[in-house]
Amino acid sequence: MSERCYCEVADLAEARSELDEIRHHLHKHPELSYEEADTSRFVADKLEAWGYAVTRNVGGHGVVASLKVGTGARTVGVRADMDALPIQELTGLDYASVHEGKMHACGHDGHTTVLLGAARQLAKTRHFDGTVHLIFQPAEEAGSDSGAVRMIADGLFERFPCEAIFGLHNHPGVPTGTFGFRAGPLMAACDTVKLRIHGKGGHAARPHLAVDPVLVGSSIVMALQSVVSRNVDPNEAAVVTVGAFRSGHAPNVIPEDAVLEMSVRSFSPDVRATLEARIRALAESQAQSYGATVEIDYIRGYPVLINSEAETAFARQVAEELVGPEHVIAPFPPIAGSEDFAYYLQKIPGCFVRLGNGEGKPMLHNARYDFNDENLTIGAAFWTRLVERFLARDRT
Ligand SMILES: [Zn+2]
Ligand SMILES: [Zn+2]
Repeated sequence: MSERCYCEVADLAEARSELDEIRHHLHKHPELSYEEADTSRFVADKLEAWGYAVTRNVGGHGVVASLKVGTGARTVGVRADMDALPIQELTGLDYASVHEGKMHACGHDGHTTVLLGAARQLAKTRHFDGTVHLIFQPAEEAGSDSGAVRMIADGLFERFPCEAIFGLHNHPGVPTGTFGFRAGPLMAACDTVKLRIHGKGGHAARPHLAVDPVLVGSSIVMALQSVVSRNVDPNEAAVVTVGAFRSGHAPNVIPEDAVLEMSVRSFSPDVRATLEARIRALAESQAQSYGATVEIDYIRGYPVLINSEAETAFARQVAEELVGPEHVIAPFPPIAGSEDFAYYLQKIPGCFVRLGNGEGKPMLHNARYDFNDENLTIGAAFWTRLVERFLARDRT
């Protein structure tokens, strides 16, 4: 047994039709963040049938499935997300969503199935020594107070101690089955800012008697362009995008107020703090200079996702063994999207992995997106091998 090699993609071939079926079932029945009751039950029932010790309702609809083999004291966690998005599906697939206005447009149906595939394989071969915790997380798309936050608050790492945690996300635009790794910051912190500018409404012909919030808002938008260009180190990346500017209804009326909404993204805690300080200062001083006032609602979203060095090198090695270095991109370029896996990495070391979903395919959160089923066995073999290697019997 000790001579046996670690899991290969071919070992999962016999599971492919079952995994396709599971993925299509999940895709057909998507549930939004905080509503994953059926998905959660479906997942937990399967894991129980495969012999896992299953804990339900961790931080909401979260499920943790644990399997201990041998006497080893080592532990590892692997996480998949389970929630869908409020999008009306336009794929026309025979397993398209039957839930009006809800869709698995981020591939969490695929991530869940990949981890179930690994669960099935690990329980079958039991080729490791230690404890694996498979973490099925709800509400990744929630934006704040998400599933990761709630599972951690519900004692995830105290109840299910993990030396390290791993997770993956599919990546449209990269060839199917190609893995991407980056140590350090991989995905951005994403904050949302709402500004409400209070001016003084009046007649368009008597601007001197009014305080025009449209002018104040325009001035703030222009001033904000200096934040990334003048306040952030050119070697660092950041985004300040004003995505909404709403004010007024008529050409001959100066409105009372204006609303600006923006998305603010960064790849380090320092840059994140600088952006907030500058946005607040510019909004307040610009408004004040025109005699207006501004209310600032600064909503901090997911933090920067920072992969630890050793675990990223380890996960990369596992992928190189599995699919060959020619199917591994490292370092993978940073991604301006955000992901609540970042919260786990604030607690323990680990790595968030990207897995190509194919070139020329619709992007994430698109109504025509679909997870690539070719990745089901590749992803499941990757998690299986990663757990086997992390909890290796002969590890010194
Ligand atoms: Zn998403
Ligand atoms: Zn996602």
